[in-house]
Amino acid sequence: MSDSEISMVARLVEQQLAKPAITFRLHKSLRTMFDAEFSRRKTHETIYALLFSLAVFDLLLLGDTSTRGIPLRDAIFVRIVMVTLPALLGLMLIYKVRTEAVRNGVVALISLLVTIGTVAMFARTDSRFVIYDAFAFTLMPVIANTLIPFRFVYALASTVVNVALVNTAIVLTGNMPIDVLPAIYLSALVSLLTNYRLERNAIDTFLNLLLKSLRQFEMDEANRYLKIIAREDALTGLANRREFEATLARTWSSAVENLQSYSALMIDIDHFKAYNDLHGHPAGDECLRQVASIILQQVRASKDLAARIGGEEFCILMPGAQFQAAEAVAERIRAAVERARIPHGGIAGQVFVTVSIGAASCIAKFCENGETLVATADKALYEAKHAGRNRNHVMRLDLAA
Ligand code: GH3
Ligand code: MG
Ligand code: MG
Repeated sequence: MSDSEISMVARLVEQQLAKPAITFRLHKSLRTMFDAEFSRRKTHETIYALLFSLAVFDLLLLGDTSTRGIPLRDAIFVRIVMVTLPALLGLMLIYKVRTEAVRNGVVALISLLVTIGTVAMFARTDSRFVIYDAFAFTLMPVIANTLIPFRFVYALASTVVNVALVNTAIVLTGNMPIDVLPAIYLSALVSLLTNYRLERNAIDTFLNLLLKSLRQFEMDEANRYLKIIAREDALTGLANRREFEATLARTWSSAVENLQSYSALMIDIDHFKAYNDLHGHPAGDECLRQVASIILQQVRASKDLAARIGGEEFCILMPGAQFQAAEAVAERIRAAVERARIPHGGIAGQVFVTVSIGAASCIAKFCENGETLVATADKALYEAKHAGRNRNHVMRLDLAA
């Protein structure tokens, strides 16, 4: 996800969390994420819970034949052929097609089959034990709505249909006093409320965790960005003055400790004021970018640091580099800028953009400090300008360098 997409989803989650507690209509994209997150778990939970429910349903077959006097063949037909076998096919479908609609649709269908089967057994007998079916009728919605991960809207529709069927069977057969009906309604209602609360909690937890990780991601990104802009020159992408100073301090002391050479290059665009005057400031900025990218191509990225330290002034820190290396790099940069043939024309004789470079080298331990080296490179730059521009001038702070 891109940064803007992350912010968009985070805003969506916040809006969703701000909605009144009673509604939990999730935005389509959040619903997709929610379903994807729990799909595997819900599939497995549904399958185990349904297998358990079917096992209980089939065990009741014993009671059908022993206490209710229903012929074994009839009981097997209803419980096994009519309910269990289609239910097992449904379970396979849930396992294969892992969508919310299929899973909930199959749960609704199996629950309807179980109700029809139970009602059929209930209607077929005139045994006095039939009164115990009241337990089955109260237990069925509890299993469907709380044991199985059944989405609330499906659970609601399915419960209404099933309770209506049970209600009709009790009234029509007269096998059971209708006084039992309120208990059946109540258990259905409680199971639905529990189902609602479970779903509501799952969604809330999901949204809160999602928001937390999105915010964390945004913060990490912002920090990463801040770290970069704290070190980078916005125009050219080279290091900025701050990074330049920090690097100088760090690499200088390491060079002192390790008795290493150190070189610094100061680079300045020739007659840049005239360039700006002729081409305008935006073109001047573009020219700075071009020169910066040429400079960057000529330095050892791992060891040297190229920085823009002033308007049109660049400095390269070369820890460990000796006089000859500084001279070579200075010449490479000067020649590369010249080769780029960026039109200048701001002043007579300045056809293309050129740079002047001052370099200074020393053995760090024998030099006062890093600033002195950079100041010497600046002096060398002045010499290069003075000598006619588009040239290099290298100074050695100590003969050993
Ligand atoms: P010299 O050859 O002696 O260096 O001459 P110069 O004109 O380059 O020297 P000077 O230091 O007088 O002029 C530097 C100019 O650089 C002045 C300013 O217009 C321009 N400049 C400084 N910063 C920027 C910048 O960020 N963008 C642009 N476009 N121009 C800048
Ligand atoms: Mg200047
Ligand atoms: Mg200049």
